[in-house]
Amino acid sequence: MKEIVEVAVGLPVFKTFHYRIPEKMKDSLRVGMRVLVPFKGRKVTGFSIDLLDHPPKDVEKKLLEVEDLLDEAPLVAPSMLRFYRWISDYYLYPLGEVIKTGLPPGLHLKSELVLSLTEKGISSLKEGALDALQEKVFKEIGRCGRVPLKKILKYFPGEVSKSQLFSWRRKGLLNIESGVEGKEIKPKFERVVQYQGGEPTRRVSKKQAEILSWLKEKGELSYSELCKRFKSPSESFRSLQDQGLVSFFRREVCRDLSVRSELKPYPKPELTSDQETILGEILTGIRSKNFSPFLIYGVTGSGKTEIYLRAIEDVLAQGREAIILVPEISLTPQLLSRFKDRFEDNLALLHSGLGQGERYDQWRRIWKGEVKIAMGARSAVFAPFKNVGIIIVDEEHDPSYKQEEKLKYHARDVAVVRAKLAEATLLLGSATPSLESFYNAEKGKFRLLNLPERIEGKPLPRVEVVDVRKEEGLLSEKLRAALKKNIEDKKQSLLFLNRRGFSNFILCPDCGFTFKCPNCSVTLTHHLKDRSLQCHYCDYRIPAPGDCPKCQGHRLQGMGIGTERLEQEIKLLYPETKVERMDHDTTSRRRSHLQILKRLESGSIDILVGTQMIVKGHDFPNVTFVGVVSADTSLHFPDFRSSERTFQLLTQVAGRAGRGVALGEVVIQTYNPDHYSVLRAKEHDYVGFYQEEIQFRTALEYPPFSRLINFRLAGTSEKKTKGLAGEMGKIGQYLLKKGYEKGIEILGPSIAPFAKMRGKFRWQMLAKGKSPQLLHQFAKDLASAMEGRMKGAGVTLDIDVDPVFVL
Ligand SMILES: [Zn+2]
Ligand SMILES: [Zn+2]
Repeated sequence: MKEIVEVAVGLPVFKTFHYRIPEKMKDSLRVGMRVLVPFKGRKVTGFSIDLLDHPPKDVEKKLLEVEDLLDEAPLVAPSMLRFYRWISDYYLYPLGEVIKTGLPPGLHLKSELVLSLTEKGISSLKEGALDALQEKVFKEIGRCGRVPLKKILKYFPGEVSKSQLFSWRRKGLLNIESGVEGKEIKPKFERVVQYQGGEPTRRVSKKQAEILSWLKEKGELSYSELCKRFKSPSESFRSLQDQGLVSFFRREVCRDLSVRSELKPYPKPELTSDQETILGEILTGIRSKNFSPFLIYGVTGSGKTEIYLRAIEDVLAQGREAIILVPEISLTPQLLSRFKDRFEDNLALLHSGLGQGERYDQWRRIWKGEVKIAMGARSAVFAPFKNVGIIIVDEEHDPSYKQEEKLKYHARDVAVVRAKLAEATLLLGSATPSLESFYNAEKGKFRLLNLPERIEGKPLPRVEVVDVRKEEGLLSEKLRAALKKNIEDKKQSLLFLNRRGFSNFILCPDCGFTFKCPNCSVTLTHHLKDRSLQCHYCDYRIPAPGDCPKCQGHRLQGMGIGTERLEQEIKLLYPETKVERMDHDTTSRRRSHLQILKRLESGSIDILVGTQMIVKGHDFPNVTFVGVVSADTSLHFPDFRSSERTFQLLTQVAGRAGRGVALGEVVIQTYNPDHYSVLRAKEHDYVGFYQEEIQFRTALEYPPFSRLINFRLAGTSEKKTKGLAGEMGKIGQYLLKKGYEKGIEILGPSIAPFAKMRGKFRWQMLAKGKSPQLLHQFAKDLASAMEGRMKGAGVTLDIDVDPVFVL
């Protein structure tokens, strides 16, 4: 019998802890279950990760007992635990928090302090023996019975402090205990009524006879349906139940999730010979039951989706499961709709756009083995299947696969590892593969599969580049002419501009004043519709002012153009056309995005203006013109991947044109007409772009020729953050001398590209090295040396491992 459980708590601590297993849990506690354990005077949720016969020697004496067992069956299978351990180690993130990331939200409990009055407190209140403040606070506590300490501090801000409350406890007036906070998400049940057969033993009323014959016909149905049909049926029903003619039971139901395909059905097509060849290779991989990684490099419109669908059909036939990752699921209704057409209800969806209960139910359907396919954004890579046969990462180059907060994992890289651990097939697909993936394919780590042509030999669109340094106004003559012709031909157009709002910032020409965000080092964007200035990073907003707050001048000017202004100008230029806009501001309501795409599909939009939202894999045959209003937004971003990102965006947006019978046309406006990102996108020349970019990466020893880890300090005090950055630099140099000098190079510390973000000052230091083992060891040593120094300074250290392949 196991005596001890090792627990990873869901808190930012790297260590795991041991607890004694109480007698009553010895039969039921297994690895992968959640437990409630005492931790530093609180109760927290943890995950059982190992069971032991004896306590480890050094901790034997002070072991506490597990407080409660939260699950009846393990939530985390042993194979998933292995995967989570790898992630924890690679991204230098606590195991308990990694497991938490992989579970649906709402499964995590933690304790908090709860106040109640003692006998003495109650009598003192009655006798009027308290001071005014005590009386006020005690009345409130008395009214609630038990109330969280946090809530009382919030009710009486500035009036009562935590230490005061504790001093009242010392006087015996208050109880302060730890209780469990929050409401745990649980499965949803409904009452079901069932016909049991047999003959009535008593005389039945007319209503009872009706209920009985209806149920006989239906067999079973939910109680709520019964109530809809018969007015207050409970009494009649109870009598039938007493006679054993009908019965009640509880059934778990799935919280409603409308994933019905709402777009036009898509019949199963014949495969082209290119598709046949590629699918053949993939099927060989699937049937080998070994880890088989592929990179499908296929131009936009070349039919990757059909290959995904057929590969999944084969995996299901083998009795295994499938995961498909897409960049942002709400942005790809067409793909979802094709999956629904093919696989119907054998599909669960996982993404952050769902409500907590819905997300939990979808996760549970996978966990219980009710569905065999999971589709979703990056977190779907954690789908709790036990026998995954294929993982597909569509648009594998997309930056949204990287999670930028908390656990900073890259879903594509993590997918590679999961497929390897599960001996599954891996399909990465893109028209513009990431440099790392294509490099891996060149090196033979991935098998490269080419889809060089569009379906039915449709040509790629013709692209023209316009040098806007020689133009006046927002739209060049070429762009306007092309747009006008497209309108006359009754075709649809997309206009792409990767900046939302009306103007980028507001400037006073008299004194040079601009409006900056007080929390972030960026200017505020002007939004005309709600007459406000907004920060796109922290959501700070103020009403748009009439005069300059510095010199009281009246000539405030909007500078730079966003999608809101572009939409307005297009409407003025072409008043007869139907113009709509798709960006963060017009799609904040649930499903509004789908509504816009449906209007585009049905032809009730002529011109759609939008940000990168319009770039995603939509396929509308009547869209024949795409205008890129400015290609430069992403080009000057302070990131070594800015050229790659620009090339990808331009190629993807251009690929939206000419998916139907008519030839597509694209006009790209830019200040950098000679930049290789722009020129190669014009030629649809991915390989050419890759060859130029890879030279730049070699020369500077950037990934894939090295690996990077960024150490970022962020704190509310500018001085302390800067001071700690200095110390981090010294520790870094010290470690180099202690044995890392040969394999690691340090850049910085320096002020981060956005010096202030969401109220925090930021400094960073980069470590670069060729050996991942050495670099990770260095990172661990640095982090543990910093830990003690940061205590109490209100500064956090974020470690960001650059997405690189781990094989
Ligand atoms: Zn001014
Ligand atoms: Zn801000």
